[in-house]
Amino acid sequence: MKYLSTRAKKNTTGISFSEATLRGLAKDGGLYVPESFPYFDHKLIPDSVLEKETLSKIAETVLAPWLIGDELEGQLKLLTKRAFTFPVPLTRLENELYLLELSHGPTLAFKDVGAKFLAECLDLCPTARGKTVLVATSGDTGGAVAAAFYEKPGLDVVILYPKGGVSERQELQLCTWGKNIRAFAVRGSFDDCQALVKQGFLDPNLQDHLLSANSINLARLLAQTLYYAKSSLTYLRHWGREPGFIIPTGNLGNALAALWAKKMGFPLRSVVLATNANQTLVNYFKTGLWQPQASISTLANAMDVGNPSNAERLFHLYPNFDELRRDVRAYSVTDEQISRTIERGYQQWGRAFCPHTAAALCVSEQLREKDWILVETAHPAKFVETLSPLIPTPIETPERLQAILSKKKQLTEIAPQLEELRSILKNSGSGA
Ligand SMILES: *Cc1c(COP(=O)(O)O)cnc(C)c1O
Repeated sequence: MKYLSTRAKKNTTGISFSEATLRGLAKDGGLYVPESFPYFDHKLIPDSVLEKETLSKIAETVLAPWLIGDELEGQLKLLTKRAFTFPVPLTRLENELYLLELSHGPTLAFKDVGAKFLAECLDLCPTARGKTVLVATSGDTGGAVAAAFYEKPGLDVVILYPKGGVSERQELQLCTWGKNIRAFAVRGSFDDCQALVKQGFLDPNLQDHLLSANSINLARLLAQTLYYAKSSLTYLRHWGREPGFIIPTGNLGNALAALWAKKMGFPLRSVVLATNANQTLVNYFKTGLWQPQASISTLANAMDVGNPSNAERLFHLYPNFDELRRDVRAYSVTDEQISRTIERGYQQWGRAFCPHTAAALCVSEQLREKDWILVETAHPAKFVETLSPLIPTPIETPERLQAILSKKKQLTEIAPQLEELRSILKNSGSGA
């Protein structure tokens, strides 16, 4: 299997999975996509694969064709065993409305799935040794990457986050690690952090020493297809009908993984994007015009994205706009709707929903068909500031988060300047 940039010219030769993962962004500025999609006859996947609570078993089947001819091909079993260690339960809310719980990983967000797989891949790639993973985060990505790479020999991590722009708990998840993980509060916005990371990757003295872990990374995306494969098949075998998925959406990585799983033949009836007040996707589905906007802050802050970075992969997958609109819809919800939905969800099921998941729940109430799976992207305990005024009982804090809350933060500030980044990277194992 070979991978090509979304901007590749005809007859370009592709590169392997590991190479695409190590590079992150293609040299021409495009995103890596497979030369062709493997197709699965899902009837041949035995029930025993679906009964396993983690993704490790289904990963062995579904990832195999993606790694053919890759240096990691022979290590697939080891890789999946190490990467997919936590459960991804599909639970029933009521009737034909289900919740896919992606909040059981080390940092309680779906980003753990992709980050852990990426870390285990790089751990097994000799060429990644001695390099530094550089990542900008507006919240969840940095924590998931830190947890996934902690104590990985020969791999350093540098995380940049906007000073004052992440929640107290998110900051603790970034700044309490030590060893090979370092986080820096950038005096600026998330956009400034991203711009700085971009400058780093363009700098000829730095780029060869850096690895990227952001949401366009191929390994993260592939790992995320697995829970759609597993849950759609589980649903079909139980109900005899294909489920649709409602996905809290920002950079479009999670939703794109769902569409890749559909393309591979898994039974996803349709995909609904639940977005917040950031309207770029909703406008696109209305008008067919792609017009990125500056991002707006909302309660569902991990979805505060005005220029979704995986859009190029979406256009590549669906060159025909009408076909895209047959499979995918987009809805936007306000902060007010998110708050009301959190209250209603608690009254109805005694269950707390994180603001992102609440956006999906709110959208489900506007849809006429049945058979929906809502994707829970984070655990509510990560967002106590938002939730506690809305629900009557305290939210239980899972042990993993509790352990972090008692640790001491190591805070370091930097200005959003390449000089500062250079000097940080000098002190890392990469010696860049
Ligand atoms: C990252 C994130 C999202 C958005 O996912 P994308 O892949 O960027 O669309 C939604 N909810 C939570 C909790 C997140 O951390």
